[in-house]
Amino acid sequence: MSDLHVSFEFFPPKSEAVQQRLWAAVEKLKPLAPDFMSVTYGAGGSTRERTHETVARIIKDAGVPVAAHLTCVAATKAEVDQVLRDYWAEGVRHIVALRGDPPGGPGERYIPHPGGYANAAELAAGARKIAGFEISVGCYPEKHPDSPSAAADIDMLKRKVDAGAARGITQFFYDNDVYYRYVDRVRAAGIDIPIVPGIMAITNFASVRKMADTIGATIPGRLVKLFQNLDEDPQTRQLIAATVAAEQCLALAEQGVKHFHFYTLNRDDLAYALCTMLGVRPTAQAKSAGAAA
Ligand code: FAD
Repeated sequence: MSDLHVSFEFFPPKSEAVQQRLWAAVEKLKPLAPDFMSVTYGAGGSTRERTHETVARIIKDAGVPVAAHLTCVAATKAEVDQVLRDYWAEGVRHIVALRGDPPGGPGERYIPHPGGYANAAELAAGARKIAGFEISVGCYPEKHPDSPSAAADIDMLKRKVDAGAARGITQFFYDNDVYYRYVDRVRAAGIDIPIVPGIMAITNFASVRKMADTIGATIPGRLVKLFQNLDEDPQTRQLIAATVAAEQCLALAEQGVKHFHFYTLNRDDLAYALCTMLGVRPTAQAKSAGAAA
């Protein structure tokens, strides 16, 4: 059996079609016994209800531990605290504590809500005060675009750890050396929590490139070349995306990475295949539960 740990990130669905895709993905990925499935929180709390419903359903129907993402944007401390209390009452024991992006989108200046939590460190501390939540936080191998320097970015991570964060989940990256160098800097700063690589396969190159530009992630030239002239050829893109992501994950595993967080975009196929290649297979319990059903 593999000693690797995996987790899967979903976003709360808007349409019936995405809803069905999400639940099919949850069902398919559940037997891999992920450490947790996480559910994002839309910009400015725009998905507050949908995130909550999705989180509650994964707990109830899938029985998998859930990490609920939560941001500080456009909400008072009292409002955020109420969400945290509701989550705890619902059985949520793990929060991904985030500052969130400014309402105008990444790149705009972030102005904290006057009565709210100013950043993820404050939110993490607030959540720990309310209940014994496990806290994960975001971290940035290529530094957060709002950060004046890589060192300031790591200082921020340190503040989040001091506030109770037990794990950092990275922004996606496509050059493993960037991740290794980042982990070295984090360790040199005396931070010893796991830094879990966030894996995002490039199934749609145009949209990943746009996202990468916004958040300051680099797409290496060799990958840009690989996806050249494939905008109208999703099938080939998908195959290349799978190959590239598999190479990335296998190389990370070879270097000793023990936990992978998959940005699934509510799809199971690639995440499932990557887990299979990493040796993460359905557990014996999941198989016998399936046979009994
Ligand atoms: P923080 O760590 O609070 O701050 C980010 C940077 O801003 C810091 O590195 C620092 O440079 C600077 N900064 C902040 N406060 C200060 C301060 N007081 N003094 C000096 N510098 C400061 N967004 C969503 O809206 N919903 C989601 O569900 C979501 N999920 C995510 C999951 C992961 C794994 C990751 C990596 C990101 C996610 N995001 C999500 C995006 C995230 O909200 C943005 O990257 C946001 O801009 C920063 O959030 P943070 O929690 O990292 O911020």
